[in-house]
Formats: sequence, structure tokens, C-alpha cells
Amino acid sequence: MQRVSDKKADQVTVRRLNMSAILKLLRERGTLARADLAKELGMTRNTASNIVTDLLQAGLVVETEFRRAGAGRPGLLLEIAPNGGFAIGAEIDISRVIVIAVDFRGKTLWEASAEISAKQPRATIIGTAEQLVADGLAWGAAEGLKPLGIGLGLAGLVDSENGILTYAPTLDWTDVPFQKTWEEKFAVPVHIDNEANTAALGYHTYADRSTARNLAYLSIGVGMAAGLMLEGHLFHGSGGFAGQAGHMKIRIDGEKCACGDHGCWVTEVGVPALARKTKKSPIDLAAITKGLRENDAELQTVADEMAEMLGLGIANLVNLFNLDTVILGGAMRSVLPFMLEKTRAVVDQRALKQPRANVRVKVSGRDDDSVFGAACLVLDSIMNDPVPLVRSQI
Ligand SMILES: [Zn+2]
Repeated sequence: MQRVSDKKADQVTVRRLNMSAILKLLRERGTLARADLAKELGMTRNTASNIVTDLLQAGLVVETEFRRAGAGRPGLLLEIAPNGGFAIGAEIDISRVIVIAVDFRGKTLWEASAEISAKQPRATIIGTAEQLVADGLAWGAAEGLKPLGIGLGLAGLVDSENGILTYAPTLDWTDVPFQKTWEEKFAVPVHIDNEANTAALGYHTYADRSTARNLAYLSIGVGMAAGLMLEGHLFHGSGGFAGQAGHMKIRIDGEKCACGDHGCWVTEVGVPALARKTKKSPIDLAAITKGLRENDAELQTVADEMAEMLGLGIANLVNLFNLDTVILGGAMRSVLPFMLEKTRAVVDQRALKQPRANVRVKVSGRDDDSVFGAACLVLDSIMNDPVPLVRSQI
């Protein structure tokens, strides 16, 4: 026999799942009538209607009137409430901190950034990030919006479950408990993840979800990481450290890598490899992009060499995961279009025919995938469990 407390727990779970399903369907479709919502999700009209009433009261959805073609009373459509709250997205990379505020529909409404240097003390860089986050929260408060949380994307090994940046090689930071310290400081939920994972999530949020279910987002800069979205979900691995694609071994006698090993993928593709191959240090990505645009033959040879190695690594990922989408982005984004054709050709040559049959390799069209995805960490956590924001509890 089921105990009363178990029954109650089951009801809470069912209610949470139903609320989450309704919010996610509205996010995907834009607008829907109550009756269509119930039908598509296989709920009774009564169940759907009760949940919608709670979501309306919580301000997470709104009703908009529409007039049917021809005569008759106007009907009501439901949609995600833009003013349901706002989320902060933040990213700390090697040269810059960027912070945005998005509404509950995921529209960016505010942004700010600041230059940093990897040589600055850790406290100075984190202080800069905290100031921008505080500015973003103050902006939302002035707009009368409810803060839903902060999402943070970081380059390095991130234990997202425990909210700790375990190791950031480019900044040389270890064990920074961002979630705990920021939740204490800002009094809102904080989510952190690797910047390639947040970029994958950001891309997936605005991409066509039906054709981008298995994607790798390769964030290529000083380091290289892959955000893996497998069967529609971010893949973190057993300790949260999956996606270290840059350290995939690609040359048995290759160059020494910052990780201590030899022949890692990132020794052939990325900013340090570009510096070595062009004999330019520090590297000026804008100048290299300009040179490539103006058909500099020497630079194009370097780009082709790099594309060869990029394609080789992607062929391995495609064989392993049977991906439908590979997105190239990160700090080197402006250079990547000059490598794309060759990269695609190598993937076609080197990956097995069947796993590569549906794969598309593209350069991201946006610069803000990672910071936008950081804000999406917050929105997704609410879409997955809206119960704490809804007042009436069964
Ligand atoms: Zn390595």
C-alpha cells in the first residue's frame, strides 16, 4: 500500500513534469491554445487548464487574444511571458569578461563587458566579473523584473554538479567554488559549466532542434573544447569533464602540448598552432583574417594545413558519435570560414560513409553563443522544474 506521503510526492512529481512539458512546448511553438496544448501533451483539458492557471498566476506564461478568421468571439492563445523574470549570463575568457541579461523568452536586453588580462590576480578578474553581474542585476531590478539566476561559462575543467571550476589552464586557476560564493553574494541560484558546453546549449536553443539533436560545438581559441549535445541533452561524463577534444591524440610524434603530452589536437588547431605556423607572436587574429580575405597565399597554406587537421579530428568525432551537426566557433571564429571548405572535404574523405551521411559542418553565425548559453542554463533549470516559482503547491 502506498503511504500518504509517497502519494503526495508522486503528485508533486507529476505536476512538475506537466508544468515543465507545457513550458517547453510553448517555448518551441511560440503560441498555442489551451485545448491544443492538452491534446499535444496527452493531458486532460482539466489538468492542462489547472496547470496553465498556476503558470499564469506565477507570471511565467501570458494570454494573448487573437481573432479567428471570419466572425465569432476572439480566442485566447498562451505564450511564454517575456516578463516572467530575467537571467544573467556571464563568461570569463582569457581577455574579456562579458555579462548579459535575457528575458524569460531568451531575448538579450542588456549587456556589458570589460577587458581583463590573464596576468591580473585572480581576485581582480573575479572582482571585475562580480561588478558586471551586480550591474546586470541592478538593471533588472530597475526594470521591475524578477531575477531567476546567474549562469557562468568558463574555459577549463568545470565540475558543474558541485559548481566548482576545477582547473582553468589559460588563467592557471584551480578549485574556484563559483556557485557557493556567488549564491552567497547575489542570493540567486547560480549554474556554471564549461564554455563549450554553454555554447552548445546556446546554439541548440536557437537552432532547429529537430535537425540538431546530436551536435558537437567546437570552441577553438587558445584551447579547444567540444560541447557535446547528445540526443538533445548536454553530455558531461562521469566527473563532468567530458569534451576535452583539444587533448584528443592526433599525432604520435606531434608537438608538445600545454597538458604535458605530445600530439594533442590543440597543438595542430587553434591560436597557439596558428602562432607557431605563421611565426607570429602575439597573434593578431584580425590581421590574419584580413590577410586571408585579401588572398594572402602563405596564410591560406597555413589555414589549409590547419583545416586538414581540423577535418581529421572531426572525422573521429563523427565516427564516434554519428553527429548531425558540428559547429565551429570560439575566439578563432573569424578565421574559420577560410578553413571550412577544406575541413568539410577532409571529413567527407576520412569519416565512414554511414556516420557522416547526415552531418553538417558549419561556422557559427554568432559571437555570443557561449554567454547566451550561460543564461540558458538558468532558463532551462526553470523550464525543467518551475514548481519553486509557482505559489500554490497542489
Ligand atoms: Zn594536450
